[in-house]
Amino acid sequence: MSTILIIADHAHGRLSAATRKVVRCAADFGADAVDILVLADHGADVAAEAARLSGIRTVKYIDHAANAHALAAAAAPQIVAAVEAGDYSHVLGSNTSFGKDVMPRVAALLGVGMVTDLMRVLGAHEFERPTYAGNAVDTIAAPDDRILVATVRGASFEPAAEDGEATIEAVSVDVHLPEHTRYIGMEEHASDRPDLGNAPRVVTGGRGVGSEDNFRVIYDFADHIGAAVGASRAAVDAGYVPNDMQVGQTGKIIAPELYICFGISGAIQHLAGIKDAGTIVAVNKDADAPIFEVADYGLVGDLFEVIPAITKAIG
Ligand SMILES: Cc1cc2nc3c(=O)[nH]c(=O)nc-3n(C[C@H](O)[C@H](O)[C@H](O)COP(=O)(O)OP(=O)(O)OC[C@H]3O[C@@H](n4cnc5c(N)ncnc54)[C@H](O)[C@@H]3O)c2cc1C
Repeated sequence: MSTILIIADHAHGRLSAATRKVVRCAADFGADAVDILVLADHGADVAAEAARLSGIRTVKYIDHAANAHALAAAAAPQIVAAVEAGDYSHVLGSNTSFGKDVMPRVAALLGVGMVTDLMRVLGAHEFERPTYAGNAVDTIAAPDDRILVATVRGASFEPAAEDGEATIEAVSVDVHLPEHTRYIGMEEHASDRPDLGNAPRVVTGGRGVGSEDNFRVIYDFADHIGAAVGASRAAVDAGYVPNDMQVGQTGKIIAPELYICFGISGAIQHLAGIKDAGTIVAVNKDADAPIFEVADYGLVGDLFEVIPAITKAIG
């Protein structure tokens, strides 16, 4: 019998899209029950949102002042207490910054190893996950005699439907919370544009854009087609854009329906972030750029001439 506990990822009182994808992934396990755990200071609204997701039995939430901010050191012991109290066989989290921070701590406190970046479920303990920056896929089998802790690769799953009616339960756990880590602050890059991690259309720029000022053409084009904006690491390192816009192995892994990149060569570390993208369109002035090997549509040309021409053509 397998029962799954999903650790909710949320911010500003909203459940993240990443957690909706973890819920969709959990449906493939064939588990007897799937529950969600919300850690917050006032978690009722997030719990109500989670309760609408398809296939969930119970949403449990722990309200505690220590959960006012997503602090992995404080969250992990509470999660472990909930896992042990509920006798869960699987604990799943997203591969977001929070998930990647908290889930290894959960595994360590439970005394088990963990599976990262699960991209396909073959059985309750058998999975596929990417390796070598997504250039190969591992099939792995985890031991079935201990709790399985895993993070789920959001780009590999659709969000769960919202036709559920899970019960909601406020729970408390009696655990000592570590005091060695405290929240100091968070700097967020505010933007009215679609969220890079979940947008159906993404436009990116690379080193070929040339400067922070030149990036304006990328923003304007993205706004014209209602797309999120991202960048290569070279563009981030050169200071053209902030680092939360980086797409790739060490940036965001995305799966838009349409991905249009300008002045990006197509290094494997960049391609690792767009492996699951639908249609890839590349504009580069070098006809031999490796990006053309993966692009569905490629245009050899200068981006500063191509962008105005495309903008004019689409009206
Ligand atoms: C451990 C590790 C992790 C990494 N993680 C990432 C990651 O997460 N994401 C990432 O992107 N990279 C990552 N990198 C870096 C990666 O290897 C490349 O260096 C980087 O992706 C190159 O960025 P770029 O394509 O913008 O720049 P370049 O490789 O310099 O390519 C610029 C391109 O722009 C074209 N160009 C120039 N001017 C124009 C113009 N006017 N019009 C049209 N085209 C033009 C050029 O022909 C060229 O192809 C990582 C590297 C390492 C070692």
